[in-house]
Amino acid sequence: MLAEKLLLHVLIILAPVLIYYVVSENRRFRQSSYFIGILQGVSASLCVIFSYYEYGLLWDLRYVPLVMAIMYGGPRAGLIVLIAILGTRTYIGGETLIFGFISGIVIAVLPFLMIKKFNRLETKKERFLISIVVGLWPTLVLFTKLFAYLSTQQVIIVASEILLFISLFGLIQMIAVGFASIIHEAVLEREMMKQEIRRAEKLNTLGELAASIAHEVRNPLTVVKGFLQLMHKDDKGKNHPFISLILSELARAEAIINDYLNFAKPEFKKVEQVNLGDLLHDVQLLLTPLATKNGVHLESYLEKNVWMETDKSQLKQAFVNIVKNAIEATPQDGRVHLNLFFNESGIHIIIKDTGKGMTKDQISRIGTLFYTTKDKGTGLGTTVSLRIIDSMNGKVDYSSEPNKGTEVKISFPSVRQEGRVAAH
Ligand code: ADP
Ligand code: MG
Repeated sequence: MLAEKLLLHVLIILAPVLIYYVVSENRRFRQSSYFIGILQGVSASLCVIFSYYEYGLLWDLRYVPLVMAIMYGGPRAGLIVLIAILGTRTYIGGETLIFGFISGIVIAVLPFLMIKKFNRLETKKERFLISIVVGLWPTLVLFTKLFAYLSTQQVIIVASEILLFISLFGLIQMIAVGFASIIHEAVLEREMMKQEIRRAEKLNTLGELAASIAHEVRNPLTVVKGFLQLMHKDDKGKNHPFISLILSELARAEAIINDYLNFAKPEFKKVEQVNLGDLLHDVQLLLTPLATKNGVHLESYLEKNVWMETDKSQLKQAFVNIVKNAIEATPQDGRVHLNLFFNESGIHIIIKDTGKGMTKDQISRIGTLFYTTKDKGTGLGTTVSLRIIDSMNGKVDYSSEPNKGTEVKISFPSVRQEGRVAAH
């Protein structure tokens, strides 16, 4: 029976993926295209050896390992599997050898062409769908091959029988590719998660260490600042401008340390009902001097009576960082617009600027600790803001176009209370 034989092949095909799963702990194996190529190559050869003979041709799932190797192991792995298939096929021989060679090479072409596109896909669902589509390609080629072969044989076979045969074959092949791809994706995901956990652990210890140092540094800094302020008041001599400079740099150092401590431990000290319109108005007032200095128009449209139960100073800090970035990114005569409104889906704050914008790559890096493109930047502002908003169950979405501007959408889920909108 074809189905039984092909089910055996499904097993042969899943074997390399399972072996890969077991050894994926080892990074050298996991990233080696030779290793993937050899695993899938052995599996493809076994398929050819155990193939099913019908209509004068050999039927098996040898192309599934080929597709898998090319997609997940790259061109080198694909080449190894192709050589394994052609080698085994030659060893078996027979009159249809030339057909086997032609279809093998034709079938390999499409997945080879798809590698780049495949690697660019981001979600595993997209990759799964593409591998299924690519998995159908061999069936199509085999279908053509079968007709080509039958026309040389001049035998008349009932068309419906062949159709059924091909459909069954195609279906099993597709299921096999789908299965293999799902398992492979699961292995990759598991590895990525493990790495992520390891990285997070490292960052955590590092963060704690840095936080305690930052904390220790803050106290002497405050003392130095206090005395310098006294000297600044008393000493009107030649050192006066230097002390001003020292004081402003000290303020900067203090701001960085505060940002860092905020990042390390965003604490909600005082949770209260906050009027968001008032809060954003405060932010606007606070940053107007900076905007004026940069020649940027800072405008707002804020709905009244939007409330949230949260830590006011933390939320303010989060908005200040984001609006400050918007102002800093905007050239003279540009605009930064703050907008607050609510609807059924929640409370929304939109911060829009007509600044230099960001490329896709830059957007994806935003919020990463220490990522900055500014000379005097710290790369802490957005990270702190994102963490604060995240811990308040909010969502942040950046959309940007280079040279056009950036739009930051922040939203919080809302609950209606006594005629006013509020969020937890
Ligand atoms: P810093 O402001 O110290 O550089 P941030 O974490 O606040 O650190 O911002 C990180 C980077 O993100 C900035 O250096 C800037 O390149 C980019 N960025 C943030 N907001 C905007 C914006 N509205 N427009 C353009 N670039 C932005
Ligand atoms: Mg900033």
